[in-house]
Amino acid sequence: MKKNKVKKSTNTHKKILTVLITGSTSGIGLGLAKAFAKEGHNIIFNGLEKDGSSIAADVAKEFKVKTLYSSANVLKADEIDAMVTEGEKKFGSIDVLINDAGIQHVAPIEDFPNATWDAIIGINLSASFHTSKAVWQGMKKQKFGRIINIASAHGLVASEFKSAYVAAKHGLVGLTKVLALEGATFGITANSICPGYVKTPLVDKQIADQAKAHGLSKEKVVSDVMLAPQAIKEFVDIEAIAALALFLSSSNAKMITGAALSIDGGWTAQ
Ligand code: NAD
Repeated sequence: MKKNKVKKSTNTHKKILTVLITGSTSGIGLGLAKAFAKEGHNIIFNGLEKDGSSIAADVAKEFKVKTLYSSANVLKADEIDAMVTEGEKKFGSIDVLINDAGIQHVAPIEDFPNATWDAIIGINLSASFHTSKAVWQGMKKQKFGRIINIASAHGLVASEFKSAYVAAKHGLVGLTKVLALEGATFGITANSICPGYVKTPLVDKQIADQAKAHGLSKEKVVSDVMLAPQAIKEFVDIEAIAALALFLSSSNAKMITGAALSIDGGWTAQ
């Protein structure tokens, strides 16, 4: 019997992907790492938490996958380059890059510390330029790559007292569009995920800070300040963000690129 000729795809999809996730030792990044590991993918962990190595080892053991931990400070381009080189050496390639590392600071413009502005722009925006640049050659060579930027509803709309965060996240949504255009002929897609509020250490700190600043209870800060702009008054589940990131990494998502995908309970629909 004549064998059917299988058309060779220009967007080769491996079964086991190597996924580099910045900021994956806490919160959303850690949830993303576990979700990808559960599907059998290799994970390159990164983050500043002291127990980063044991987090990576525990995930490797639990899900029977290969992991690596890098303590690279994403404010430093040379440390990012070293992390990518180490990852490519260990796994052969980096197939998915998820830029998740981020920090927040809430203060009126006249009180906003200059150094905090620089740090937020550096971690929440410039780092994604440096990581994307570092993985680009490898993705281009294998004609496959997925870049997923964890932006925010604040990449699409503003809130007062968040000048640096809103500027960085709007910038990240813009950077993502450029990566999408430049990657189009190389099988590289780039998308932003824009969540509403997610209950993580970053948000727990904000709840405490805002309660103090406004003289409100923590419950009131959540209901009257944080969830006020969302039509659905609930925190976003990390699992929902992970499910979207997994879909964006699949071959079915190869035509989704340059998009800013909201998971925000209707916040930006208004
Ligand atoms: P988190 O504080 O739990 O985790 C942040 C991670 O970033 C940590 O692993 C930390 O070590 C890492 N990190 C910070 N500075 C770093 C640096 N210089 N170098 C390397 N790693 C660094 O925060 P989270 O809530 O999980 O936030 C993750 C991302 O999701 C951020 O980009 C944040 O802006 C975005 N986001 C969060 C929410 C939310 O409500 N939590 C909503 C929308 C978007």
